[in-house]
Amino acid sequence: MSLDDFRTIIDKTKRTLTNVILHNQGEPTLNDKIFDMISYARSNRIRTIMSTNLTLFGEEVCEGIIKSGLDTLIASVDGVTEETYQKYRIGGHFEAVYRNLERLVEMKRRLRRRSPHIVWSFLIFKHNVHEVEEAARLAMDLGVEFFIQSAGLGGTIHPWQGDEKLKGEWLSTEEWVPRYFDYDPARGSICKGPCDWLWNSLVVFWDGTVSPCCFVDEERFSFGNILEDELCDIWNNEQYRAARSLFRRKWEQDTGEAVICNACRMFEKE
Ligand code: SF4
Repeated sequence: MSLDDFRTIIDKTKRTLTNVILHNQGEPTLNDKIFDMISYARSNRIRTIMSTNLTLFGEEVCEGIIKSGLDTLIASVDGVTEETYQKYRIGGHFEAVYRNLERLVEMKRRLRRRSPHIVWSFLIFKHNVHEVEEAARLAMDLGVEFFIQSAGLGGTIHPWQGDEKLKGEWLSTEEWVPRYFDYDPARGSICKGPCDWLWNSLVVFWDGTVSPCCFVDEERFSFGNILEDELCDIWNNEQYRAARSLFRRKWEQDTGEAVICNACRMFEKE
């Protein structure tokens, strides 16, 4: 995404926007204007959150992150040995990533900054579940928050979501592991209750394409384009109203529009 497009999007949404999450399914530090984007959002009093794999965190990137005023940095590090780390993060190196995390923490201290709040996010798989305790200890030593979540088999609308073979290969069966992404056939969904994302957030892709959540990643399911239209017009368009009506049949009329939320198994429909 270009800086100009980012600014246009912020300008079009800032009246109601409180938080901007600067990642979806990509690595935000690949964008060489990322610090300017963070600064622009901050100058408009919008909270900024960014998840990164820390691979590109040299001195310059660390300084850029800290000085831009980023509020929260989520460091995705799923393992404490090269073997486990590289099973999912192919081509990455745990030692390098850990060094970069140390560098960031040290620089934040040296520059006497309160932000970003740093969170070590550990995605639990079958192959790394035995390293959670050690990772938590390392996070404590560094003075950063530690957060775990269970891995899931991708989005809610992909056919391999219920693939038993993949499940057996990748997902941990430990009792204590929180399972956010377990499909319940009796309920017909993963989570209990309705999808609230349709009322409180949207995803904007690099070209301005809008989708209702991070699970929807194909342009043909798009709900509009924020660079071409106004937020208000997208927010109340046929697709949004049709999607919301799946969860509020009593109050809203189904517009008849076929939207991707029909096929989604994440939340319980009415
Ligand atoms: S219903 Fe499913 S596809 Fe639609 S916004 Fe919610 S999570 Fe995304």
